[in-house]
Amino acid sequence: MSCIKCSILIDEKSDKFIRCDLCSRFIHVVCLELSDAEVKWFTLRPNSRRRIKFICCECEQNVNQIPKLITLINGWQNKIKNLNERFSELRNCTGDVATTSNTSV
Ligand SMILES: [Zn+2]
Ligand SMILES: [Zn+2]
Repeated sequence: MSCIKCSILIDEKSDKFIRCDLCSRFIHVVCLELSDAEVKWFTLRPNSRRRIKFICCECEQNVNQIPKLITLINGWQNKIKNLNERFSELRNCTGDVATTSNTSV
């Protein structure tokens, strides 16, 4: 496994590293420029309730983009709604053509 930031291979035995809780990739503690006290919170055992979730810089950027994504999705939902309305209008115009084709047998 290699560090997200410097892409140098992480030595599990000698290097201090943290795993991102979102993408599960690893990063050197030294690459984070965190204080020892801050690092302690992130490196507590995963099952510890006091452990703080660590999110790497890349995921943080993605998280920041979520509000943009939500407005994008809202726009799509409106478009889909409009399409559905037009579709049901069209269905009303054509009547029950689809159902009568099967009864001719
Ligand atoms: Zn690194
Ligand atoms: Zn990440």
